[in-house]
Formats: sequence, C-alpha cells, structure tokens
Amino acid sequence: MDCLFCKIIAGDIPSSKVYEDEYVYAFRDIAPQMPVHVLVIPKLHLASADEVSEVNSVYVSKIFEAIPKIAAAEGLTGGYRIISNCGDDACQSVKHLHFHILGGGQMSEKMA
Ligand code: AMP
Repeated sequence: MDCLFCKIIAGDIPSSKVYEDEYVYAFRDIAPQMPVHVLVIPKLHLASADEVSEVNSVYVSKIFEAIPKIAAAEGLTGGYRIISNCGDDACQSVKHLHFHILGGGQMSEKMA
C-alpha cells in the first residue's frame, strides 16, 4: 500500500519516534506548528476517523490511552490540543488516521 504513515511505521521512511506500543506509533511532525507537535497514529491502516468502527475502535482507545503519557513525557503541563483532520474540507493531507498533539504554548480560541 502506498501510504506514507504505513511506511513510517514499517521503518521504511525515517521518523522521530516519541512513543510506540502494539497498537500505536507516535512521532514528531516534520513541520511543527507549535513547540510540541506530535502525530499519533494507529498501526492499522485506516484512512481517517471516517473508517473507525466497532471492528477497529480498539486502535482509537489505545491512541487515547497513549496521548496522556505522551503529553506528560513532552512536559505539556499547561494543556494541549488534539486535532484529527478528516477529509478534504478539513485539509487532511495524509490519508492515514492521525491525531495531532499540539502544545508548549498558548493557542488561539479559533478552531477553524
Ligand atoms: P494532516 O494535514 O492533518 O493530514 O496532517 C499531516 C501532517 O503530516 C502534517 O502536519 C505534515 O507536516 C505531517 N507530515 C508529512 N510528512 C511527514 C513525515 N515524513 N514525517 C513527519 N510528519 C510528516
């Protein structure tokens, strides 16, 4: 499958890993938009949140178990934002489900 994030999970494309377990891989965004910008992805290929179902939702729960651990390791004591762009209207550029963790400073109240 020609998926950038599947290749990162496989180690075929280098990444700056911050967390990994049986279900989840997390790495630094190549173009950070905050001092801390981490991408958290399932090891199963799902194109977006639109493909989450009762068959695969364990990957999402494992991601949300990992996120507080990653946030703590990154020192995000002041809070952080979790974003998942889904589809073209939301400007999803990589079609493998991912959650952005953004933090390390004050963010705007605007979401879009
Ligand atoms: P989205 O626009 O929500 O699909 O987010 C995709 C994110 O992947 C963007 O923030 C990119 O900067 C990031 N990205 C693209 N290629 C890489 C890469 N090779 N390593 C790390 N992050 C990447």
